[in-house]
Amino acid sequence: MERVLIHIHGIVQGVGFRPFIHKQVLHYELRGTIKNTSSGVELELEGERPELERFIADLPEKAPKLAVIERVEADFSPELRGFPDFQILTSKTEAQRNTLISPDIGICEDCLRELFNPKDRRYRYPFINCTNCGPRFTIIKDVPYDRAKTSMSSFPMCPDCDREYHDIENRRYHAQPDCCPICGPHVFYLDAEGRPVEGDAIELARAAIRDGKIVAVKGLGGMHLSCRCDDAEITKTLRRRKQRDEKPFAVMCRDAETAKKFCFVSAEEEKLLNSFRRPIVLLKKRERGALGHLSENGFLGVMLPYTPLHYLLFGDDFDMLVMTSANLSDTPIMYCNDEAAEKLHGIADGFLLHNRDIQTRCDDSLCWCLGGGEYFARRSRGYVPFPVSTHEDLGMALACGAEQKASFCLSKGNYVFPSQHIGDLKNIETYENYTQQIRHFERLFDIRPTVLACDLHPDYLSTAYASERSEAEGIPLVRVQHHHAHMAACMADNALTGEVIGLVWDGVGFGTDGTSWGGECLVGGYRAFRRLGSIRPIPLVGGDLVTKESSRVAWALLRAAGESTRRFRDSAAWDFMLSNGLNCPLSSGMGRLFDGVSALLGIKERCSYEGQGAVLLEAAAAEDEGVYPVSFEEEDGVARFDWRGMIRRIVKEQSDGVESGVIAARFMNTLVDMAVSQCLYARDVSGLSRVVLSGGSFQNLYMMRRLPAALEKEGFAVCRHRRVSPNDEGLSLGQLMIAKAKLQ
Ligand code: ZN
Ligand code: ZN
Ligand code: FE
Repeated sequence: MERVLIHIHGIVQGVGFRPFIHKQVLHYELRGTIKNTSSGVELELEGERPELERFIADLPEKAPKLAVIERVEADFSPELRGFPDFQILTSKTEAQRNTLISPDIGICEDCLRELFNPKDRRYRYPFINCTNCGPRFTIIKDVPYDRAKTSMSSFPMCPDCDREYHDIENRRYHAQPDCCPICGPHVFYLDAEGRPVEGDAIELARAAIRDGKIVAVKGLGGMHLSCRCDDAEITKTLRRRKQRDEKPFAVMCRDAETAKKFCFVSAEEEKLLNSFRRPIVLLKKRERGALGHLSENGFLGVMLPYTPLHYLLFGDDFDMLVMTSANLSDTPIMYCNDEAAEKLHGIADGFLLHNRDIQTRCDDSLCWCLGGGEYFARRSRGYVPFPVSTHEDLGMALACGAEQKASFCLSKGNYVFPSQHIGDLKNIETYENYTQQIRHFERLFDIRPTVLACDLHPDYLSTAYASERSEAEGIPLVRVQHHHAHMAACMADNALTGEVIGLVWDGVGFGTDGTSWGGECLVGGYRAFRRLGSIRPIPLVGGDLVTKESSRVAWALLRAAGESTRRFRDSAAWDFMLSNGLNCPLSSGMGRLFDGVSALLGIKERCSYEGQGAVLLEAAAAEDEGVYPVSFEEEDGVARFDWRGMIRRIVKEQSDGVESGVIAARFMNTLVDMAVSQCLYARDVSGLSRVVLSGGSFQNLYMMRRLPAALEKEGFAVCRHRRVSPNDEGLSLGQLMIAKAKLQ
């Protein structure tokens, strides 16, 4: 007999880890104790040495799938304590604190099998779940996480469920949302007027969709609007009703095999599609021009069913359904039955709802599969509220994010908790949800921030929120330059310390000189940065109007390059504005350069959503290795890319009849060359050779395939985002790191 003290570091709390350990201890006939610590769990066990060793060896492989084991330390000792049995040690405070909360988990294989097994007592029951799957974050009202503090509190367990819940050998041991047709929630169907319809709710919904109707379907973190994919007239109706003219719809495919009919699906993408997190994965279409009524670009956002209700709804009728968030343009996703029936009146022809309340909105996550892992456009359902671990203790801090793609994050020790997708704060309901979610997270994770961070932009509503709280609660506030925050976010994402070169490309961010930045080459670390490179500023004729009317940017590019602007109807008026400095702010935003070239090439002259010009330019790009010449102009030590030579070459090639897809590729190749030149310059000046890539413009897979390779060829080590998004949603992580560094 020997005794062993085991420390398990990582994400091992609130993931069913202690029940798992309990089972393993019984299996190997060990005795001892387990308790939570600030960085994981601590076990003290006694037993035969081979048994103890096998117990430890089993940990990584057999642990619950949500657990992230970062490190296991084991100290053996011959001195025995003589434990009588196995005990889970809990302290009062510990039950409240340091408890991680699981994200919602897609239905597991076992539950799926039971769902379609006529002999199972949960046969075709849309709320089947177990310890390994089901709703979590979205049904929790408060901590500690047990049934009484979730939406399941109004459904007392029947004796059968109760027996499973208390049986350590059962898959539903301590599964808080466990239920069955006898004791659990149920589905119902409403017609277009919100009146209940008699009959099998799922059959009614399926029949309506089959008939070409649009049906609101209640999911885990909110409602979807669902309809058939195979009829462009139906999706056109949905677009009209939802006022979503061109932005792509996400779809749900019955399985990965079906997705392969329409898209290229690599083994890694298939794995991600099937993962229990079930994100929407942006897959490359087999034919670029196909499925234009669903997505106008080269990708299709595909997810697989993740609730039992989804599987039942598909039945044998459909291969693929539109599943788009049920909201009116720019408002948060709907999640309450009454609200949906009222606000979706005239939009949905029917409602497939249920009486298990959603406590917290959580949109579907959206990502590409890059290098075998997620590259997020949106990190939300299936991931939130799991923390991102950091290399240092950050104490308790709150970073308030940006505005249009708002998110926040809170830190506690070595964990940072990024929020779910929130949306555009300029919408009042979105702003309310933002402030409520901040308080909700603070309560769930027992965090009282002692540091606040926000953007430098004076007009962001997140900045206003942060200043108000700073004043009201006397908490120090650090205002962080937008692109510095992007750079720091990518550093923290990759656990980097020290100093790096940061290429930060996005649409717009408030610069330290009060102008709009966005095509930046920075050097520095968490504490400070210097701007070494940028692009020649572009005058935005009409200010914010240019984000919709990209032809204004194209005009400004041509005019600066000394080319004819005759093709623009409003040329004289814009000329007057520019000559007289009327509403023509300057911007070095890379997003604007993409918009301008996209309009110049006739790819997109009017944009109906952010980034559309750039997305369509990427989609239009041909395979071509050509580049345009790159030159820089220096101003106060900042090497600015002078795009005028490139614009002149583009105009020349257009008049020579070169295809716009070829020019689009050459334009992006030129940006790769430009970025490499800037990094070489930055390396000369600073001696640094690590490069981080951040900002929304790097949500461009053409660039992401070429730029890292080109930099690596020059001897740079390149890091891109892995755990948070490169766009403004990931910004708060960087803000938090910088605020902590500045206050130290
Ligand atoms: Zn399950
Ligand atoms: Zn039951
Ligand atoms: Fe940004």
